[in-house]
Amino acid sequence: MSRSISILGATGSVGTSTLDLIRRDAKDWRVVALTANCNVAELAALAKEFRAEIAVVADESCLNDLRAALDGSGIEAAGGKRALCEAAARPVDITVAAIVGCAGLGPVMAAIEQGGTIALANKEALVSAGEVMTAAVAKHGAMLLPVDSEHNAIFQCLEGGRIEDVRWITLTASGGPLRTVEDLSAVTPEQAVAHPNWDMGAKISVDSATMFNKGLELIEAHHLFPVGLDRIRIVVHPQSVIHSMVEYRDGSTLAQLGPSDMRVPIASCLAWPQRMDTPCEPLDLPAIGELGFFQPDEQRFPATRLAREAAEAGGAAPAVLNAANEVAVAAFLDRKIPFSRISLLVERVLTEGNLPDAPRSLDEVLMVDDASRKRATEMLELA
Ligand code: NAD
Ligand code: MG
Repeated sequence: MSRSISILGATGSVGTSTLDLIRRDAKDWRVVALTANCNVAELAALAKEFRAEIAVVADESCLNDLRAALDGSGIEAAGGKRALCEAAARPVDITVAAIVGCAGLGPVMAAIEQGGTIALANKEALVSAGEVMTAAVAKHGAMLLPVDSEHNAIFQCLEGGRIEDVRWITLTASGGPLRTVEDLSAVTPEQAVAHPNWDMGAKISVDSATMFNKGLELIEAHHLFPVGLDRIRIVVHPQSVIHSMVEYRDGSTLAQLGPSDMRVPIASCLAWPQRMDTPCEPLDLPAIGELGFFQPDEQRFPATRLAREAAEAGGAAPAVLNAANEVAVAAFLDRKIPFSRISLLVERVLTEGNLPDAPRSLDEVLMVDDASRKRATEMLELA
């Protein structure tokens, strides 16, 4: 029997990796919704190939082009944020949440309200909404499966174990493309997005370079695995072979290893609790030779410290941190600010002035996100 699937952010790096796996077993899947921001040509081609029920562009100004591209195909075309949430709310067996940024939060929450399984790549949504999202998951009986490779690794290491028996969760970090670059002030967007191990979208690539990716992942882990923040630590492991580890109280450490290919954690979510084939290169340990481990350097890369402080403060702080980072990354990619200003801007938005009250609903999270973006944008313009 085929399973139904929707992919939010179908044209992105995680979205296309997911579709690559589905393509190999097309008869096992029924594709319901595919969405993109505005990449009409690619979205329409994917919708036709996978015979999706509906294709949605988040940017409403692209809807006419999408309608034209899908004319005569029998595939519904829709546009705008509301249409995106309505499509995400169509009941399916599994939703792959692969939109980048807090823009994905509304659609993820709409999918959660259907009580299905959500394979979550969109870490910014969980970082911003935190308890609001985990409470909705519990209320609607939904299941969150982590796509992020570290969290997927931890999830696998926890299968068969008890969370009360965990002593440490160790998130591994590649350290990004700038780990060994001396002068961070002159880093260009091209250098920052050139990740040594992973091929990813531009925003997460910059986050890897600043280490905000690991900071967001710390907050993500804190919501997914309730062991307490003080039991989650970060270790730099430049080869990205071990994707994360769980140490139990008897001294046993379980690790998940694999190639640096997102199709491995995506496949683990698609097939869970079973396994499926992937075309990924198997690990060749003798060719890899040695694995290295280092403490993160928070003097050079303050992002993990800022994220830990935001997670400890709780309430609105993680949503503020995420929003400020999204604004800063966009400004850096637009060449409006130097690399080193990204974390400075995030720190200023977090520490200057009062934090908003803790959001208690989706609307309140979106209000914090919007207000923090405005503040970050003002600070950019003032400086
Ligand atoms: P990407 O930039 O390649 O793709 C993003 C997708 O979201 C595209 O389909 C795009 O059209 C859509 N999108 C962009 N802005 C939107 C908006 N405002 N509204 C609606 N849709 C919008 O990004 P990616 O690298 O695939 O990352 C997606 C998410 O997965 C991110 O949260 C990222 O942190 C996470 N993630 C990615 C990887 C990876 O290897 N790429 C690994 C782990 C986690
Ligand atoms: Mg990751």
